[in-house]
Amino acid sequence: MKARNPNNLPEKVCVVCQRPFTWRKKWERCWDDVTTCSKRCNNERKRSNRIARGAADAEGEDAMQCDVSSDASDGAAEKANKKAAKKAAKAERRARREGVSSGGQKACDLCARSVDLLIRCEIDRSSGWRMVCGRCWKTPAVAGGVPDGDGQNPNYRYGGLWKNLHRTM
Ligand SMILES: [Zn+2]
Ligand SMILES: [Zn+2]
Repeated sequence: MKARNPNNLPEKVCVVCQRPFTWRKKWERCWDDVTTCSKRCNNERKRSNRIARGAADAEGEDAMQCDVSSDASDGAAEKANKKAAKKAAKAERRARREGVSSGGQKACDLCARSVDLLIRCEIDRSSGWRMVCGRCWKTPAVAGGVPDGDGQNPNYRYGGLWKNLHRTM
């Protein structure tokens, strides 16, 4: 038996097959709970428990017993999951950042606010076409909220709407 355990690892006797088995890396967090030497013996133990206590109790027993059947492939899957989650979070952050910065919005010529809808219009004779946000457009100095102007600004001329098409995507 000494030759099988050169590193002097902790040893236990399997409750199913009564053979000694030594500590393994995969059991490092649950060694105290490990009672069987192998997956096969663990299944055997579960089955006999189920028969002895009835199927209802078997679930609790399974939860208490740590997963001795886990192997390297489980670790790899966990890693892949974490990687995918990280990737998704990064994409979400990027999308949010782009949404805040502009997202296809344009700035109002009067108040410089970035908006999704601008009204193209002339406000005075010298400056030509302006792109104006709804808030500014509603002021009497521009159009007073009337598409053709409310008359208070005699130089007002309506020239169409600009809509942010990125927003609907
Ligand atoms: Zn065994
Ligand atoms: Zn504005």
